[in-house]
Amino acid sequence: MANSTQGDRVLPSAALWASHKNMVMEPLESNDPEVHNIIKKEKQRQRLGLELIASENFASRAVLEALGSCMNNKYSEGYPGQRYYGGTEFIDELERLCQKRALQAYQLDPQKWGVNVQPYSGTPANFAVYTALVEPHGRIMGLDLPDGGHLTHGFMTEKKKISATSVFFESMPYKVNPKTGYIDYDQLEANAQLFHPKLIIAGVSCYSRNLDYARMRKIADSNSAYLMADMAHISGLVAAGVVPSPFDYCDIVSTTTHKTLRGCRSGMIFYRKGTRSVDPKTGKEVLYNLESLINQAVFPGLQGGPHNHAIAGVAVALQQAMTPEFKAYQQQVVMNCKVLSTALIELGYDIVTGGTDNHLILVDLRSKGTDGSRAERVLELCSIACNKNTCPGDVSALRPSGLRFGTPALTSRGFLQDDFRMVAQYIHKGIELTLRVQKDMSPKATLKEFKEKLEEEKYRRELKVLKEEVEAFAGTFPLPGLPVL
Ligand SMILES: *Cc1c(COP(=O)(O)O)cnc(C)c1O
Repeated sequence: MANSTQGDRVLPSAALWASHKNMVMEPLESNDPEVHNIIKKEKQRQRLGLELIASENFASRAVLEALGSCMNNKYSEGYPGQRYYGGTEFIDELERLCQKRALQAYQLDPQKWGVNVQPYSGTPANFAVYTALVEPHGRIMGLDLPDGGHLTHGFMTEKKKISATSVFFESMPYKVNPKTGYIDYDQLEANAQLFHPKLIIAGVSCYSRNLDYARMRKIADSNSAYLMADMAHISGLVAAGVVPSPFDYCDIVSTTTHKTLRGCRSGMIFYRKGTRSVDPKTGKEVLYNLESLINQAVFPGLQGGPHNHAIAGVAVALQQAMTPEFKAYQQQVVMNCKVLSTALIELGYDIVTGGTDNHLILVDLRSKGTDGSRAERVLELCSIACNKNTCPGDVSALRPSGLRFGTPALTSRGFLQDDFRMVAQYIHKGIELTLRVQKDMSPKATLKEFKEKLEEEKYRRELKVLKEEVEAFAGTFPLPGLPVL
């Protein structure tokens, strides 16, 4: 077919456009029914299940609209005002707005703090900080993974360095006291004195108590180390002021944006500007030089083009995080978590540290005679999502004794205290069933054998009854997000 012309513009041939049009203009549902169908199934799973994974949340409709926007299309390597691409006028406007909101959400003075909103997620954000501040094989201390820290804070076994943080830097973990479950700051202090870290990380993925940032600042200062908070899990709680802010004590604060903060998946790094210290002898000010180090580490050090659609979603989430409604939501998250903790204690469960200050609890199943992997599997089959986790004093990371439960996601669906008392009952039913199945087999049975046992007809039936009960309950609550997918 011949090209048609319109003025001096040559249009593609009608045939080319007709075929192309289908590909680029058609809705997902008809363009790719296979993917559309998978997303629909996942949406249904989210609607009918009890989402108790502490790191998850349901992003709002507005956040997902920004995330699914044309901002996805634009390359903009560099920073606002200094890009390697043209056409970045609105990208610059967006990134600056996101930065401004990030500082506002945490009540930071732009003279004293700056923020990089380009990290693709929490892991690249942390790695950018390390490469900015610590030389190759320099020393880093973070909470050990089995004690509630994160992989990116450095993790290795006796045989192998697992986390890239441990491969490219020297990491020495600090621990919780195995008896109390609280971080052992005395031991951290003593070990820091020997190890002389360049960077100490205050941050957790599975720890239900507030951190003692003031104490950690002192330990960092006595070793001339930087103190970084990784507030990935609690950034929404911090924005709402329901847990202590790390900003008062830290040089750097990294975070994800999709956990309690309830944005899309992304990361941010806050860094101090201005005076770092005053030399007591000369009276001279020592200035922070973090801004250029951090920015260069993110780009061009580790990343390429920013994910501008994600930055748009984060900007929307940050705006929401400054509202009274968000503060009320976070207060409810913490209240719900205390209710869940108390209800489980009343049902005879051990909660590590005896309770919670934040959005999560760790249930120690050792006294019940089961472990995290078995209970997690049974709960999963009943549409209750949570994760297995090591408990303080666990001998093997391969057989974690606990389950981690968090309240941010269900609180976003409007769950209140009474609803979480019901949730505790459903968890209890699942764990009772776990114990019955275990009684029905050899105490030495492997996890694989346990999972096979669950396939037996009588257990399949029991699991189905509980699953239907859970889904009938969860299905009555609204689900934030886009109207269809
Ligand atoms: C979740 C988490 C991260 C990593 O975030 P990703 O977005 O999964 O890369 C880093 N640090 C802490 C403390 C976390 O909980």
